[in-house]
Amino acid sequence: MRDHVKLFIPGPVEVSADTYAAMNAPMIGHRSKDFQVLYADVHEKLQTLFGTTQQVYLSTSSAWGVMEGAIRNLVNKKVLNCCCGAFSDKWYDVSLRCGKQAEALKVDWGQAITADLVDAKLATGEFDVVTVVHSETSTGVLSPVEEIAKLKAKYPDVLFVVDTVSSFTTLPMHFDSWGLDILLTGSQKAFAMPPGLALFAASEAAYARAAEVKDRGYYFDLLEFQANGKNSMTPSTPCISLIYGLRHQLNKMLAEGLENRYARHARLNGMVHDWVRKNGFEFFAPEGYRTKGLTCVKNKDGFDVAAFVSLLKKRHNLAIDGGYGKIKGQTFRISNMGDESDESIAELIAALDDTMGAL
Ligand SMILES: *Cc1c(COP(=O)(O)O)cnc(C)c1O
Repeated sequence: MRDHVKLFIPGPVEVSADTYAAMNAPMIGHRSKDFQVLYADVHEKLQTLFGTTQQVYLSTSSAWGVMEGAIRNLVNKKVLNCCCGAFSDKWYDVSLRCGKQAEALKVDWGQAITADLVDAKLATGEFDVVTVVHSETSTGVLSPVEEIAKLKAKYPDVLFVVDTVSSFTTLPMHFDSWGLDILLTGSQKAFAMPPGLALFAASEAAYARAAEVKDRGYYFDLLEFQANGKNSMTPSTPCISLIYGLRHQLNKMLAEGLENRYARHARLNGMVHDWVRKNGFEFFAPEGYRTKGLTCVKNKDGFDVAAFVSLLKKRHNLAIDGGYGKIKGQTFRISNMGDESDESIAELIAALDDTMGAL
């Protein structure tokens, strides 16, 4: 029996011992040369992952900090929040709480946001920002961000803000060539780090907009990030230990090779999918719109998700998720994000099979 509960929930995920060890390094001053060297090291690698020559920023917050920050910095007129699950729905609520004009473009949970739907809304001319969640972690749906971002050509004054919290490093990102304005992610999903660090890139258009927007606040002010970032620093004292962990994880990713990393996530996701089919379950997300870092399984009649999740934990010290928000119990979710391998997913599947048999 392992000494702790290993997490196969879609965040936070298991953090490897080598990552914790890398974080266990002496503290340095955040205005020191040592910090600038650390920042510059991770920054160059992050630009590769984001697919950008723009600056990438480190925010000492969870992803929601940057999601809220994007709203506060960029919305002058009205934001279109594309809603297809718990995280994307919540973004609309956040827009309202920031006192912004906002509209929710809603599809049923389990469906994807499509470019046609966004196009029809932007055609009204009411909006200056659109938010999209790439991989909606509550439903396992992957929305076609690249296609949606092509609308930029038709609506050049609209800024495109994308949450890739549960897809980043499982799939290639092309911030510059997709023409995005903010792309954000967090540390506790596929980065396989402890929570507390968010990462984001911003476009020239995003800075220009921020300069026109009042009441951006301080902590998430894009122009503060820009000014400090130019100097390889952050606006306030950052989570330096997590940045050591980030450097370690980035080095691991580049040693593995990004293409290999993306292929590994697809392969491990496929192993979980095979288990789902073999056991007579269906997927909550439609074919062609399924994310690669986790699987959202549609429950079937007579199957007690809560009992399954708790027995898996009791017998194997493994945690999967029993469904999020309004689809709790109607679905369950299994993560394959981060440092997982063919062996560790095979082990998980054996444990799922054993637990099925014991239920
Ligand atoms: C986990 C998650 C978030 C929230 O991240 P926090 O780190 O809790 O702020 C936002 N969006 C998506 C798609 C997520 O999976």
